[in-house]
Amino acid sequence: MNASNLYEYLERISNLVRTSIRKTGLVHDLQPVQTEALHYLSRCNHYSNTPVAVAEYLGLTKGTVSQTLGVLVQDGFVKKTIDLKDRRVVHLQVTPRGEKVLNDLVPPPILTSALENLPTEINDQVGPLLEQLLMALQRANGLKTFGACKTCCHHRLQENGLRMCGLTQEMLAEADGEKICREHAKPPVAA
Ligand code: SF4
Repeated sequence: MNASNLYEYLERISNLVRTSIRKTGLVHDLQPVQTEALHYLSRCNHYSNTPVAVAEYLGLTKGTVSQTLGVLVQDGFVKKTIDLKDRRVVHLQVTPRGEKVLNDLVPPPILTSALENLPTEINDQVGPLLEQLLMALQRANGLKTFGACKTCCHHRLQENGLRMCGLTQEMLAEADGEKICREHAKPPVAA
């Protein structure tokens, strides 16, 4: 496949998904970018739930993200806390209200119904192929991976079953393994 064909597919798919997110988000007065920020915050770990990390993940300016997060906080979908070690840093957590709204919006029904209509053998290939494409795109362009913590080269699973981050030397909770992180780094590919 060449890049032009791929672009046409991805552009059409992302337009359809965004339109669906826009329509369902309107019920809760949420713009697509607000839904995306809320979804990111529901999946990231405590090193990554800052306004700067949201801006990096969404590829937006700090000003745009600041406005987006302001609305989410004001409407009670997200709550702000001050970092205990560095009072200049703000953390953002999705509230139970935000989680409830996300359950209505994600995944967009347009995708659920499409996958249900795919033959099983095709459906099984979609995830792995998209993952490969995403990884190739990130590698080729030097982009952050924002991957799940348990797949990071710094992730340490100790003999006692506890998890530790080799980068920060801090212990991690069991649930942190599945969360995405702005410091995530893929293990080097074996030669
Ligand atoms: S192990 Fe990697 S992904 Fe997990 S918290 Fe540490 S740097 Fe982030």
